Amino acid sequence: MKLNISALEYIQGVQNGSISVEDFIARTLERIKDVDDKIHAFLHVNTNILGEAKNIDKKIKAGEKVGACAGMPISIKDNICLKDTKTTCASKILHDFVAPYDATVISKLKKEDVLFVGKANLDEFAMGLTTEFSAYGPSKNPWNLEYVPGGSSGGSAASVSSFECIASLGSDTGGSVRNPASFCGVVGYKPTYGLISRFGLISYANSIEQIGPITRTVKDTAFMLNIISGQDPNDNTTVTNSEQDFLAEIDAGVEGKKIGIIKEMIGEGIDSSVLSATKDAISKLEGLGAICEEISLDMVKYSVAAYYTITATEAGSNLARYDNLRYGYEFPVEGYEFNSYIAKARTKFGPEVTRRMILGGFVPASGHAGKYFLKALKIKQKLTEEINQKFKEYDYLIAPTVPILPFKIGEKIDDPVSLFLVDINTVTANLTGKPAISIPFAMSKGLPIGIQLLADTMQDKPLLQAAHALESTVRLPEVPI
Ligand code: GLN
Repeated sequence: MKLNISALEYIQGVQNGSISVEDFIARTLERIKDVDDKIHAFLHVNTNILGEAKNIDKKIKAGEKVGACAGMPISIKDNICLKDTKTTCASKILHDFVAPYDATVISKLKKEDVLFVGKANLDEFAMGLTTEFSAYGPSKNPWNLEYVPGGSSGGSAASVSSFECIASLGSDTGGSVRNPASFCGVVGYKPTYGLISRFGLISYANSIEQIGPITRTVKDTAFMLNIISGQDPNDNTTVTNSEQDFLAEIDAGVEGKKIGIIKEMIGEGIDSSVLSATKDAISKLEGLGAICEEISLDMVKYSVAAYYTITATEAGSNLARYDNLRYGYEFPVEGYEFNSYIAKARTKFGPEVTRRMILGGFVPASGHAGKYFLKALKIKQKLTEEINQKFKEYDYLIAPTVPILPFKIGEKIDDPVSLFLVDINTVTANLTGKPAISIPFAMSKGLPIGIQLLADTMQDKPLLQAAHALESTVRLPEVPI
């Protein structure tokens, strides 16, 4: 039985009887056993799902109705709450934290009979882009185990790319779904802000982040969005007009559509193979009838600085709750006064999270706020105005998802600023709330390259149509592991 199939193929196979859920899950668990020692996509694997798989098969045989996902195995980034399961954010501070409730996305998937194969590795509290900042060790890129899988949802992307599950959910604050999707050769989606509920997603920078699917095909992403999007009374930033069928008309194509090529995202520092893949994607889209021309988003050059200022500020307050009183680990209070106890407990945070929290205490403080935090908010506002202006004229914008190829584990870990700069092409969608997708498009030196498309607010459906059109022009080799 092939594990390398799309969600839609899986569902069809279950429906027509060619796939037994139990067999598929048993093979999936074997696959994880065979390869995850090397990849380390998972922090926790749920072997109990075999029993649940049998039940779904029984129901199908008895002609009973099963959910739309019919036992499909998916992995979940370990910063999304899955009831009664450890949810660590890849942090020592949440080492023993068991989620007492389900995130809204999880409840929605449960209703459709998804089987949760495990919790996927990430950079601690989703801060990073390589998974090297996980307190439990890095994940590896399935295309080449010496390379990073991207991040922070690196475990999610690696698990989909290496057939350890069919799809995954990640979170994207500044590129954390799209970046690893690009590095691992799978599809990664950051929806319009508010399209998917964040209830049960452990906050990093909640004003700009979204949960997003990671899948093998664009159609699978549309299918997942149909299930997990929608207004949620538990998250009042969710939008009301989200009752749409993302899969319907997915073949609409890009004939006559106008696409802006973001000049600032293909400039200095871009890898030559990434640039030529981007040019190739543009000519493929032109071949499909789109009109592509270069545009400029002047504020992009300040976007990374603004992004890290805003996210550090939000992280500083979001992570203040980890005081080892409400959440925490075994650590006796005797011998400490109140503040020193908390300070000591918080030494469990890893170096990257600590760096962000120190920065997050500094930049919004009185005396500095005008110089840093408020300035960052102004850049965010100006960038949004700029991109809104472009979307009056263009249906989509295009750029490579990441300007460089995946790099070796350890190569950039000691140079945070060079790591921050790798986010240059992804943070714009978050700062402006726009939807964006990464599509696996080319290979260089045995490593995948993703192309990113962006659309205007709530234009998620047309965005998926364009992504599907572009995806249909390529076929990447199968992952070697
Ligand atoms: N690399 C970015 C950061 O470290 C993005 C992370 C994310 O999207 N969660 O903040």
